[in-house]
Amino acid sequence: MKIICIGRNYSEHAKELNNEIPDKPVVFLKPATALLKDNKPFFYPEWSADIHYETELVLKVSKQGKYVEEQFAHKYYNEVSVGIDFTARDLQSTQKAKGLPWEIAKAFDNSAAVGSFSPLQSKSCNFSLKLNGTEVQKGNTNDMIFSFDKIIAYASQFFTLQVGDLIYTGTPSGVGAVKIGDRLEGFLEQEKVFDFWIK
Ligand code: MG
Repeated sequence: MKIICIGRNYSEHAKELNNEIPDKPVVFLKPATALLKDNKPFFYPEWSADIHYETELVLKVSKQGKYVEEQFAHKYYNEVSVGIDFTARDLQSTQKAKGLPWEIAKAFDNSAAVGSFSPLQSKSCNFSLKLNGTEVQKGNTNDMIFSFDKIIAYASQFFTLQVGDLIYTGTPSGVGAVKIGDRLEGFLEQEKVFDFWIK
């Protein structure tokens, strides 16, 4: 399986990082080794001093597809959860400044935390993150620049979708740093879908 991620999909978040609002989805991948699930702890890597959380709605691909048309895209996913796109912001800033690929800042081991999945009920999903018991991020998928179906149509031109692939749909504003000892709790609507610690 692979993990397809969308960057800058909420205008308030693009602004907080001084990025332009994109006219096409910003797409990057994480490998299967990035997956962190079952509430296992995230071990802070020694090569970064600025790991950020980005809370994102995550779709699970349910059907293989290539060049999926937007009007049929809804047939290609049926489960949803919330995840964290962990980002080494210090490495990412260096890579971006040099115009280099940012995989080392985005696709490292355990950088894709994900909660438990449930059937998708609506395309309007509320999700949020608590850091040490305080809500630090919340979003609604209605505020995405590119909808689930637009993301599927765009990304599947380049990458064949396979059953079990995950799609991280971008983070709303409010990203921030984590430190060792922090507790992260993710919510989809009112339901807690993950609860793990930074170690
Ligand atoms: Mg992200």
